[in-house]
Amino acid sequence: MAKMIERASERARIPFKNAAFTDFSNAENRQAQLEALEQVKSELGQTHPLVIGGKKINSEKTFASLNPSNPEQVIGYFASATAEQANEAVKAAEEAFTSWKRVPAEERAGYIFAAADLLSQKRFYFNAWMIYEVGKSWAEADGDTAEAIDFLEFYGREMVRLGSDQPLTQVEGEENKLVYIPLGVGAVIPPWNFPGAIMVGMTAASIVTGNAVVLKPASTSPMIAWQFMRMLEEVGLPAGVVNFVTGSGGTIGDALIEHPRMRFIAFTGSREVGLRIHELAAKPQKGQVWIKRTVLEMGGKDAVVVDETADLDSAATGIVASAFGFQGQKCSAGSRAIIVEKVYDEVLQKVIEKTKKLSLGDVTQPETYMGPVVDQNAYNKINEYIEVGKGEGRLLTGGGHHGPGYFIEPTVIADVAPRARIAQEEIFGPVLAVIKAKDFDDALAIANSTEYGLTGALYSRDAARIEQAEEEFHVGNLYFNRKCTGALVGVQPFGGFNMSGTDSKAGGHDYLLLFTQAKSIATKK
Ligand code: NAP
Repeated sequence: MAKMIERASERARIPFKNAAFTDFSNAENRQAQLEALEQVKSELGQTHPLVIGGKKINSEKTFASLNPSNPEQVIGYFASATAEQANEAVKAAEEAFTSWKRVPAEERAGYIFAAADLLSQKRFYFNAWMIYEVGKSWAEADGDTAEAIDFLEFYGREMVRLGSDQPLTQVEGEENKLVYIPLGVGAVIPPWNFPGAIMVGMTAASIVTGNAVVLKPASTSPMIAWQFMRMLEEVGLPAGVVNFVTGSGGTIGDALIEHPRMRFIAFTGSREVGLRIHELAAKPQKGQVWIKRTVLEMGGKDAVVVDETADLDSAATGIVASAFGFQGQKCSAGSRAIIVEKVYDEVLQKVIEKTKKLSLGDVTQPETYMGPVVDQNAYNKINEYIEVGKGEGRLLTGGGHHGPGYFIEPTVIADVAPRARIAQEEIFGPVLAVIKAKDFDDALAIANSTEYGLTGALYSRDAARIEQAEEEFHVGNLYFNRKCTGALVGVQPFGGFNMSGTDSKAGGHDYLLLFTQAKSIATKK
């Protein structure tokens, strides 16, 4: 273990650098990705257990994760955990916590670094599972894996920093120090849309700080979490530090959140579920001796604003990439384009032309830009919104859908009023609402007029307006003259305001503090 500590300390001294995206124009990389897709194809349809306290537990009741490109193809079968099993997982985490919390910070970071190395080695394989399980294009899957690796590298370094001496003002006659100690048992509840990055990020942050967790993956992407569990096992993470509990959030969510021994909940997902967790967690249970902490990252209704001074072509490119990357299923997706009157028609025309060029189809092929939406529920909901949108604006391109997978065309609806439903509600699909603003001030007011505040972009060459937006555009992640998606770990710490969450910043230097509590220790000399 001394070696692991030394190696982790050394690695933490190397400044963090984001993992590079894979260049798929390189023939070798293309071949490697194709081979990984073949490999994954041969592993589809198997049944996977719960993992509680290191024990693999099969269940009679299972559910299937399906390929959204071809819903007849089963990705894998997963155990439908019961509330009792969720309780057992909390117990197992609590047992593991008693020893894990005493493991030195550098050693915990060592496990996280080892997982980063393994994930880097298995990158094409991990990408392939995402292509199959949630319908990501090659580039989107690869970006997701790169972000997962980044979280492991970044939080490993951060824990070494937090584990070292903390700066304090010293006073005569005393020795003072401050240490960051873990919270206890946590529930990690990720969404399916970044099934790699967010699941890995929230889990890594929780455990590297010394907590033990129950990881309950989204029911549309349990396979990605299962693959990560296998990696944690391979790097020798002690049993019980991460317990893997699959099953419907509606069935086991309450048991986890209400459990009196649950100390914190790290959740990323919808506003509706996030608020429910917040409410349930706030109510103290019998025997509970702490206030549960919640880290909630929720939805968005993000806007790309364009004024008359902007490079209009680049603005249209940014609007299209923000709206339709991964089928618009990103919390950061630019689902509103707010364009000032003077250049509205011109930008709109460019947006339509660029949208029509996007390819929609088979994501196992490297050229495909867009794949299916994630499942039947999403497909139905998005199509309903398109119908609503037809009544709220002019449908200019898209609007169609085709099977057998859940394919929905990239859809642009123009002349939408700022308070229309498709301009206010998170659709989470390839639907762009285009809104005309009188001028820049009006555009900014419209951008700020939803209950969310996650990401936003402004295309402008006017320095005064950029300064104004810096102050007034109320979002957690603001971008100038670039798209509003694609935040990088360490570079653009990510998380939003208002109903977009609890203002936490994943991939930032403050993030691990959410998983710790600080203890001040004073000794009289
Ligand atoms: P979701 O339906 O809220 O589900 C998220 C997670 O919560 C899943 O694991 C889900 O499990 C679980 N869950 C569902 N009901 C629950 C309950 N009653 N108690 C406890 N857990 C429960 O969201 P999603 O569709 O997976 O993800 C899309 C949403 O995530 C969008 O709103 C998007 O904007 C948001 N998002 C936000 C960020 C951010 O950083 N702010 C990042 C990515 C995504 P089941 O799958 O079993 O239902």
